Amino acid sequence: MRYISTRGQAPILDFRGATLAGLASDGGLYVPETWPRFTTAEIAAMAGLPYVEVAVRVCRPFTGDCLDEAALRDIFTRAYGRFAHAAVVPLKQLDHRHFLAEIFHGPTLAFKDIALQALGLVFERFLGESGAHVTVIGATSGDTGSAAIDALAGRAGVEVYMLHPHGRVSEVQRRQMTTVLDGNIHNIAIEGNFDDAQALVKAMFNDAAFAGRFPLAAVNSINWARLLFQVVYYFTTALSLGAPHRAMSYAVPTGNFGDVFAGYVAAQMGLPVERLVVATNENDILHRALSAGDYSQGVVRPTDAPSMDIQVSSNFERLLFDLAGRDAAQLAARMAEFEATKQMRLPDDQREAAARLFTSARVDAAEMIDTMRWALAHTGELLDPHTAIGLAAARRDPGPDSAGAPMVTLATAHPAKFPAAVAAATGITPALPARLADLMSRPERYDVAPAQLQAIEAYIAQRARPR
Ligand SMILES: *Cc1c(COP(=O)(O)O)cnc(C)c1O
Repeated sequence: MRYISTRGQAPILDFRGATLAGLASDGGLYVPETWPRFTTAEIAAMAGLPYVEVAVRVCRPFTGDCLDEAALRDIFTRAYGRFAHAAVVPLKQLDHRHFLAEIFHGPTLAFKDIALQALGLVFERFLGESGAHVTVIGATSGDTGSAAIDALAGRAGVEVYMLHPHGRVSEVQRRQMTTVLDGNIHNIAIEGNFDDAQALVKAMFNDAAFAGRFPLAAVNSINWARLLFQVVYYFTTALSLGAPHRAMSYAVPTGNFGDVFAGYVAAQMGLPVERLVVATNENDILHRALSAGDYSQGVVRPTDAPSMDIQVSSNFERLLFDLAGRDAAQLAARMAEFEATKQMRLPDDQREAAARLFTSARVDAAEMIDTMRWALAHTGELLDPHTAIGLAAARRDPGPDSAGAPMVTLATAHPAKFPAAVAAATGITPALPARLADLMSRPERYDVAPAQLQAIEAYIAQRARPR
């Protein structure tokens, strides 16, 4: 499989190249040249297989000569062997129609472990083959950083510089990053919000002089391999509920549009998906874009679901590329305009095409709290704020338009990752799982820096190993 940039001006790469590059050199994102498609029989044959085996079958068409079946099996066996649940992604029934897919059983209690535990092993393998090293630069609203740091701590050939918005991630999230004391891990708290941190990362990649000195790599959800590994749980959960003979809908708490884009990929690969419900909090750029064609950047409002406090959803560009008929020149012009004006209109025909699969909902704090209370009272489940937003959107969905399509809400974080918000809504403080019980007393290490490109580049240049 070859990978092309959504903006058409970057070199075409194989899976290895796209994985190590992250962002394309023209500012676009790498996507597969075509969407591989399974037959109904091929999907049916995956029913009942262990998670790792489904992962091998779903990912194999994308990796070409770079990772064969045995390599993928080895990576997934090691990555998901660290999960606390034997099913990797267990399903829980809430009522006759609604299910939760718990994608948070990894080491750092949010779904980003699913992609990053595997990505860390892929990096180590690719770098080991060539004797190369990389400088990973990332921006996090909390969960990506902790998952990336856990996956990359101590890995040979990898240095990590992780930017998080100072004071805007939960204490559990911060400590999951700053208590990892391995020498290859560097945490930088930026005096700004997540969008500022993400803009700094993009600017470093686009700074030819800086990118020329250090072998930069990205692990943000702009990294294609991450999205690929997330496609797998759409398959495993749908198979458990009767696919391919029955369609499912999914409600996905959304920030950077990575997780829900993985659902779109599953649909392109032939999985029968009835609807993808894009759930946002008050930071609703995606809801405005999908419901009214208005993709314009608002001001980020901090909420109790910080991993969704995003007003520029990087991965949305991958959907826009397909909606524009894969016309990279057209998309590059529109993205340049968006970057200059912070606004973009989705043409009506493209918005209508998106609406065949995607619906959206904006869920405010009151509805999030009501949903947490409803779930506790009627199912006994404690939900984290992100999951509650997903379930609120799911419960607003008008219902199946083909017989009996179940609605699966992706439970993206363990409630103990956001104990203050969960306690405020339900009166119950969720306990950290035993493997993390001493987190609040471990020593921390991080530096605070202004949200200025020069300052951050100087910080990294003082420490990182050049090419
Ligand atoms: C990252 C994250 C999200 C948003 O996922 P995207 O792929 O950025 O849309 C939602 N919930 C939690 C808990 C997260 O960590």
